[in-house]
Amino acid sequence: MNNLKGKTSGFHLYLVEFYGKNNFDEKTTFEKVRGLANSSWNILPKEQRENYRYDSEVIGHDTVDRKVDKIIESFKAIQAKQNQKRTEAARKVKYFLEDTFDLFDWNSHVFLIGHVNYQVKDKNDFYPIEIGLVKYSFDEGLMDTMYIHINSSPLPIGNEKSARERSEDTHQLPFNTNFGVSFNEAKIQISKFLDNEKPFIFTLNEKDDIAAARYTFDKIMDTEVYVVPLENLLLRSYEALYKKDYANDPFDVLMNQNPWEFYDIGCEYHKDLAASKFCSLAKAKRWAYHLSKILLPPELLYPVKHTIC
Ligand SMILES: [Zn+2]
Repeated sequence: MNNLKGKTSGFHLYLVEFYGKNNFDEKTTFEKVRGLANSSWNILPKEQRENYRYDSEVIGHDTVDRKVDKIIESFKAIQAKQNQKRTEAARKVKYFLEDTFDLFDWNSHVFLIGHVNYQVKDKNDFYPIEIGLVKYSFDEGLMDTMYIHINSSPLPIGNEKSARERSEDTHQLPFNTNFGVSFNEAKIQISKFLDNEKPFIFTLNEKDDIAAARYTFDKIMDTEVYVVPLENLLLRSYEALYKKDYANDPFDVLMNQNPWEFYDIGCEYHKDLAASKFCSLAKAKRWAYHLSKILLPPELLYPVKHTIC
């Protein structure tokens, strides 16, 4: 905080006030607060900005700086707490998978498989638009499904082009417009679906998909939800069912050799467009079907539950 001459000093005083006036949750970063304060500062009338500069002179730049430093410190403390939470979460995932792998009754275990479509990634923030979830066991196949469209608009300024491209290429849903339910409604519906299940959601580790899903569930839910690469489920299931290692590349098989890509098994919106290929729900279903096909003998594949036809 050394270069606080002239223009910046007024902004820093404004930043301290801005932070004090707004109730930011603990998931907000300092960079985000500073960005929001900056946007709001830039549209202040000139006289008001001058007033902040004047007040900053009166209060003393050092005093203003110390206040800003204090805010930064409090964000660092929150960050450290969150990092610790993440480390603990990773450990729990490991224990969970080992525990589950040890289960004698692998076929009856209920797994959650899911996918999150998002509008854009802006800095480290994802703006989700669709979540698809299925409950699956090798015995029962698809047991339950849900999907939800989430309203994460308006997007931060400057994201229009990438949102349009992502809409065309990856999800085909309306972008940067009121579409879908609020985050709070999403929380209610997802909580209902997760019920008492262990909240470990398997999703394919394609591009940013795991990061997007982690960010989204973290943002929406009050309770912990762990997002785990789907590849792990294939590897461990194979080990559990066949008592040997899977010989192929699990990502490649799940990603590129999925026979259900063009079946219309998505949400109502994607079905209407005949575009289930892009749907989060369809992806979760396809992965469940694909796991059945890879791992179960044909005589155990029941239509709708384990396979489409
Ligand atoms: Zn859909």
